[in-house]
Amino acid sequence: MKSRFYSISSCLNKDKNELEITFGVLKNESIFADSSHYGVCTKFLADSPIGIVMPAEIIQSNKFILPDDLSVPVIMIGTGTGIAPFRSFWAQRELDYQNRINSDRFGDFILFYGCRAKNKDFLYMKEIEALKDRQILSEFHIAFSRDINFPKEYVQDKLWENSDKIVELVVNKKAHIFVCGRSQMASGVAEKLKVIFSKHLKLLGKDQDDTFIQKLKNENRYHEDIFNS
Ligand SMILES: Cc1cc2nc3c(=O)[nH]c(=O)nc-3n(C[C@H](O)[C@H](O)[C@H](O)COP(=O)(O)OP(=O)(O)OC[C@H]3O[C@@H](n4cnc5c(N)ncnc54)[C@H](O)[C@@H]3O)c2cc1C
Repeated sequence: MKSRFYSISSCLNKDKNELEITFGVLKNESIFADSSHYGVCTKFLADSPIGIVMPAEIIQSNKFILPDDLSVPVIMIGTGTGIAPFRSFWAQRELDYQNRINSDRFGDFILFYGCRAKNKDFLYMKEIEALKDRQILSEFHIAFSRDINFPKEYVQDKLWENSDKIVELVVNKKAHIFVCGRSQMASGVAEKLKVIFSKHLKLLGKDQDDTFIQKLKNENRYHEDIFNS
Protein backbone atom coordinates (compact mmCIF):
# COMPACT_ATOMS: atom_id res chain seq x y z
CA MET A 1 0.00 0.00 0.00
CA LYS A 2 1.32 3.47 -0.79
CA SER A 3 2.19 5.86 2.05
CA ARG A 4 -0.10 8.71 3.05
CA PHE A 5 1.46 12.06 3.91
CA TYR A 6 0.24 14.39 6.67
CA SER A 7 1.55 17.82 7.51
CA ILE A 8 2.53 18.11 11.15
CA SER A 9 0.19 20.52 12.93
CA SER A 10 2.02 20.78 16.23
CA CYS A 11 5.32 22.42 17.08
CA LEU A 12 8.22 20.15 17.98
CA ASN A 13 10.02 23.05 19.67
CA LYS A 14 7.06 23.34 22.05
CA ASP A 15 6.71 19.66 22.87
CA LYS A 16 9.29 17.20 21.60
CA ASN A 17 7.28 14.16 22.73
CA GLU A 18 4.07 14.94 20.92
CA LEU A 19 3.21 15.13 17.27
CA GLU A 20 -0.23 16.13 15.99
CA ILE A 21 -1.80 15.87 12.56
CA THR A 22 -5.05 17.31 11.22
CA PHE A 23 -7.15 15.19 8.89
CA GLY A 24 -10.70 14.70 7.69
CA VAL A 25 -12.16 11.25 6.93
CA LEU A 26 -12.53 11.10 3.16
CA LYS A 27 -15.74 9.66 1.81
CA ASN A 28 -16.62 9.23 -1.82
CA GLU A 29 -20.29 8.61 -2.51
CA SER A 30 -20.67 6.01 -5.27
CA ILE A 31 -23.49 6.56 -7.74
CA PHE A 32 -23.32 2.92 -8.84
CA ALA A 33 -23.76 1.11 -5.55
CA ASP A 34 -25.47 1.45 -2.18
CA SER A 35 -22.14 1.61 -0.47
CA SER A 36 -19.83 4.58 -0.17
CA HIS A 37 -16.06 4.37 -0.14
CA TYR A 38 -14.08 5.77 2.71
CA GLY A 39 -10.46 6.83 2.43
CA VAL A 40 -8.38 3.90 3.69
CA CYS A 41 -5.98 5.74 5.97
CA THR A 42 -8.28 8.44 7.33
CA LYS A 43 -11.00 5.89 8.18
CA PHE A 44 -8.42 3.69 9.87
CA LEU A 45 -7.08 6.64 11.88
CA ALA A 46 -10.57 7.79 12.89
CA ASP A 47 -11.59 4.30 14.02
CA SER A 48 -8.36 3.53 15.87
CA PRO A 49 -8.57 3.33 19.65
CA ILE A 50 -6.44 5.64 21.78
CA GLY A 51 -3.07 4.08 22.50
CA ILE A 52 -2.74 2.14 19.24
CA VAL A 53 0.81 1.94 17.86
CA MET A 54 1.21 2.51 14.14
CA PRO A 55 4.24 2.84 11.89
CA ALA A 56 5.12 6.35 10.78
CA GLU A 57 8.13 8.20 9.54
CA ILE A 58 8.94 11.91 9.85
CA ILE A 59 10.13 13.52 6.64
CA GLN A 60 11.57 16.96 7.21
CA SER A 61 10.62 19.62 4.68
CA ASN A 62 13.36 22.02 3.73
CA LYS A 63 10.99 24.22 1.74
CA PHE A 64 7.83 24.79 3.75
CA ILE A 65 9.52 26.48 6.68
CA LEU A 66 9.26 29.90 8.29
CA PRO A 67 11.94 32.45 7.41
CA ASP A 68 14.66 32.74 10.07
CA ASP A 69 14.28 36.52 10.20
CA LEU A 70 11.26 37.27 12.42
CA SER A 71 10.80 40.70 10.86
CA VAL A 72 9.98 39.20 7.44
CA PRO A 73 6.18 39.25 6.89
CA VAL A 74 4.46 35.88 6.52
CA ILE A 75 1.24 35.38 4.54
CA MET A 76 -0.44 32.00 5.10
CA ILE A 77 -3.23 30.82 2.78
CA GLY A 78 -5.09 27.57 3.33
CA THR A 79 -8.40 25.76 3.16
CA GLY A 80 -9.83 22.83 5.12
CA THR A 81 -7.16 20.59 6.62
CA GLY A 82 -4.67 22.79 4.78
CA ILE A 83 -4.55 24.72 8.04
CA ALA A 84 -2.33 21.95 9.48
CA PRO A 85 1.16 23.37 8.91
CA PHE A 86 0.01 26.88 9.86
CA ARG A 87 -0.92 25.62 13.30
CA SER A 88 2.70 24.59 13.78
CA PHE A 89 3.77 28.00 12.43
CA TRP A 90 1.64 29.95 14.93
CA ALA A 91 2.80 27.74 17.79
CA GLN A 92 6.38 28.57 16.82
CA ARG A 93 5.47 32.27 16.63
CA GLU A 94 4.00 32.07 20.15
CA LEU A 95 7.31 30.65 21.36
CA ASP A 96 9.23 33.39 19.57
CA TYR A 97 7.02 35.98 21.29
CA GLN A 98 7.67 34.42 24.69
CA ASN A 99 11.41 34.34 24.11
CA ARG A 100 11.68 37.70 22.44
CA ILE A 101 14.27 40.24 23.31
CA ASN A 102 12.93 43.82 23.36
CA SER A 103 14.75 44.78 20.19
CA ASP A 104 13.09 41.97 18.20
CA ARG A 105 10.83 43.28 15.49
CA PHE A 106 8.07 40.97 14.32
CA GLY A 107 6.81 41.17 10.75
CA ASP A 108 3.13 40.86 9.80
CA PHE A 109 1.78 37.35 10.36
CA ILE A 110 -1.42 36.98 8.36
CA LEU A 111 -3.72 34.00 7.91
CA PHE A 112 -6.27 33.58 5.11
CA TYR A 113 -8.47 30.55 5.71
CA GLY A 114 -11.36 29.05 3.79
CA CYS A 115 -13.87 26.42 4.90
CA ARG A 116 -17.52 25.56 4.31
CA ALA A 117 -19.41 26.72 7.38
CA LYS A 118 -18.56 28.36 10.69
CA ASN A 119 -20.14 25.72 12.89
CA LYS A 120 -19.17 22.78 10.71
CA ASP A 121 -15.56 22.78 9.66
CA PHE A 122 -13.90 25.98 10.89
CA LEU A 123 -10.91 24.14 12.36
CA TYR A 124 -9.17 25.56 15.45
CA MET A 125 -11.65 28.46 15.60
CA LYS A 126 -11.14 29.20 19.30
CA GLU A 127 -7.38 28.89 19.03
CA ILE A 128 -7.32 31.31 16.10
CA GLU A 129 -9.58 33.83 17.85
CA ALA A 130 -7.27 33.80 20.88
CA LEU A 131 -4.22 34.32 18.65
CA LYS A 132 -5.91 37.26 17.03
CA ASP A 133 -6.81 38.77 20.43
CA ARG A 134 -3.21 38.42 21.55
CA GLN A 135 -2.01 39.89 18.24
CA ILE A 136 0.17 36.91 17.49
CA LEU A 137 -1.80 36.78 14.26
CA SER A 138 -1.66 40.34 12.97
CA GLU A 139 -4.60 39.71 10.63
CA PHE A 140 -7.05 36.87 10.06
CA HIS A 141 -9.41 36.62 7.08
CA ILE A 142 -11.94 33.85 6.70
CA ALA A 143 -14.09 32.81 3.73
CA PHE A 144 -17.13 30.54 4.15
CA SER A 145 -18.26 28.84 0.98
CA ARG A 146 -21.46 27.17 2.25
CA ASP A 147 -22.74 28.99 5.30
CA ILE A 148 -26.24 30.41 5.04
CA ASN A 149 -25.28 33.19 7.46
CA PHE A 150 -22.40 34.48 5.35
CA PRO A 151 -21.91 35.43 1.70
CA LYS A 152 -20.48 32.59 -0.38
CA GLU A 153 -16.80 33.35 -0.62
CA TYR A 154 -13.57 31.56 -1.38
CA VAL A 155 -10.18 32.32 0.02
CA GLN A 156 -9.29 33.94 -3.33
CA ASP A 157 -12.03 36.54 -2.74
CA LYS A 158 -10.40 37.47 0.56
CA LEU A 159 -7.03 37.84 -1.19
CA TRP A 160 -8.62 40.17 -3.71
CA GLU A 161 -10.22 42.27 -0.94
CA ASN A 162 -6.78 42.65 0.62
CA SER A 163 -4.84 43.20 -2.61
CA ASP A 164 -3.17 46.44 -1.51
CA LYS A 165 -1.84 44.96 1.70
CA ILE A 166 -0.56 41.84 -0.09
CA VAL A 167 1.23 43.89 -2.75
CA GLU A 168 2.74 46.17 -0.09
CA LEU A 169 4.07 43.22 1.91
CA VAL A 170 5.31 41.16 -1.02
CA VAL A 171 6.76 43.92 -3.18
CA ASN A 172 8.08 46.33 -0.52
CA LYS A 173 8.70 44.13 2.49
CA LYS A 174 9.78 40.88 0.84
CA ALA A 175 7.03 38.79 2.46
CA HIS A 176 6.93 35.01 2.17
CA ILE A 177 3.70 33.38 0.94
CA PHE A 178 2.70 29.90 2.09
CA VAL A 179 -0.18 27.99 0.46
CA CYS A 180 -1.55 24.71 1.80
CA GLY A 181 -4.51 22.57 0.73
CA ARG A 182 -5.86 20.76 -2.29
CA SER A 183 -4.33 21.32 -5.70
CA GLN A 184 -7.43 23.00 -7.15
CA MET A 185 -7.35 25.63 -4.38
CA ALA A 186 -3.60 26.14 -4.79
CA SER A 187 -3.95 26.82 -8.51
CA GLY A 188 -6.91 29.16 -7.86
CA VAL A 189 -4.83 31.08 -5.34
CA ALA A 190 -1.84 31.35 -7.70
CA GLU A 191 -4.16 32.57 -10.47
CA LYS A 192 -5.72 35.23 -8.18
CA LEU A 193 -2.30 36.43 -6.99
CA LYS A 194 -1.24 36.77 -10.62
CA VAL A 195 -4.24 39.04 -11.23
CA ILE A 196 -3.46 41.06 -8.10
CA PHE A 197 0.17 41.64 -9.10
CA SER A 198 -0.79 42.39 -12.72
CA LYS A 199 -3.22 45.07 -11.51
CA HIS A 200 -0.43 46.56 -9.42
CA LEU A 201 2.01 46.62 -12.36
CA LYS A 202 -0.65 48.16 -14.60
CA LEU A 203 -1.19 50.96 -12.06
CA LEU A 204 2.54 51.64 -12.26
CA GLY A 205 2.27 51.74 -16.04
CA LYS A 206 4.27 48.54 -16.41
CA ASP A 207 3.55 45.42 -18.49
CA GLN A 208 1.93 42.34 -16.98
CA ASP A 209 4.50 39.84 -15.72
CA ASP A 210 3.26 36.24 -15.98
CA THR A 211 6.40 34.98 -14.32
CA PHE A 212 5.87 36.90 -11.07
CA ILE A 213 4.90 33.82 -9.00
CA GLN A 214 7.77 31.84 -10.53
CA LYS A 215 10.14 34.67 -9.57
CA LEU A 216 8.86 34.49 -5.99
CA LYS A 217 9.46 30.74 -6.08
CA ASN A 218 12.98 31.26 -7.39
CA GLU A 219 13.59 33.67 -4.50
CA ASN A 220 12.26 31.00 -2.11
CA ARG A 221 9.37 33.26 -1.10
CA TYR A 222 6.42 31.26 -2.47
CA HIS A 223 5.92 27.92 -0.78
CA GLU A 224 3.26 25.29 -1.50
CA ASP A 225 2.18 22.18 0.40
CA ILE A 226 -0.36 20.57 -1.91
CA PHE A 227 -2.65 17.56 -1.41
CA ASN A 228 -3.87 15.79 -4.51
CA SER A 229 -6.69 13.58 -3.24
C1 LIG B 1 2.55 16.58 1.11
C2 LIG B 1 1.16 16.14 1.52
C3 LIG B 1 0.65 16.58 2.74
C4 LIG B 1 -0.64 16.20 3.13
N1 LIG B 1 -1.13 16.64 4.32
C5 LIG B 1 -2.39 16.32 4.70
C6 LIG B 1 -2.93 16.83 5.92
O1 LIG B 1 -2.28 17.53 6.68
N2 LIG B 1 -4.21 16.49 6.24
C7 LIG B 1 -5.00 15.70 5.41
O2 LIG B 1 -6.16 15.45 5.77
N3 LIG B 1 -4.48 15.19 4.26
C8 LIG B 1 -3.20 15.48 3.88
N4 LIG B 1 -2.70 14.97 2.72
C9 LIG B 1 -3.52 13.99 1.98
C10 LIG B 1 -3.29 12.59 2.59
O3 LIG B 1 -1.96 12.16 2.35
C11 LIG B 1 -4.22 11.50 2.03
O4 LIG B 1 -4.14 11.51 0.62
C12 LIG B 1 -5.69 11.68 2.45
O5 LIG B 1 -5.79 11.74 3.87
C13 LIG B 1 -6.54 10.51 1.93
O6 LIG B 1 -6.03 9.29 2.38
P1 LIG B 1 -6.98 8.05 2.57
O7 LIG B 1 -6.15 6.81 2.69
O8 LIG B 1 -7.97 8.29 3.68
O9 LIG B 1 -7.83 8.02 1.20
P2 LIG B 1 -7.60 7.01 -0.03
O10 LIG B 1 -7.93 5.62 0.37
O11 LIG B 1 -6.28 7.28 -0.64
O12 LIG B 1 -8.80 7.52 -0.99
C14 LIG B 1 -8.79 8.80 -1.65
C15 LIG B 1 -10.22 9.09 -2.15
O13 LIG B 1 -10.69 8.09 -3.05
C16 LIG B 1 -11.92 7.52 -2.59
N5 LIG B 1 -11.92 6.07 -2.84
C17 LIG B 1 -11.09 5.16 -2.29
N6 LIG B 1 -11.37 3.94 -2.78
C18 LIG B 1 -12.39 4.08 -3.66
C19 LIG B 1 -13.11 3.19 -4.49
N7 LIG B 1 -12.83 1.88 -4.52
N8 LIG B 1 -14.10 3.67 -5.28
C20 LIG B 1 -14.40 5.02 -5.25
N9 LIG B 1 -13.75 5.90 -4.49
C21 LIG B 1 -12.76 5.44 -3.70
C22 LIG B 1 -11.98 7.82 -1.11
O14 LIG B 1 -13.31 7.91 -0.61
C23 LIG B 1 -11.29 9.15 -1.03
O15 LIG B 1 -12.18 10.21 -1.32
C24 LIG B 1 -1.42 15.33 2.30
C25 LIG B 1 -0.87 14.89 1.10
C26 LIG B 1 0.38 15.29 0.70
C27 LIG B 1 0.92 14.78 -0.60
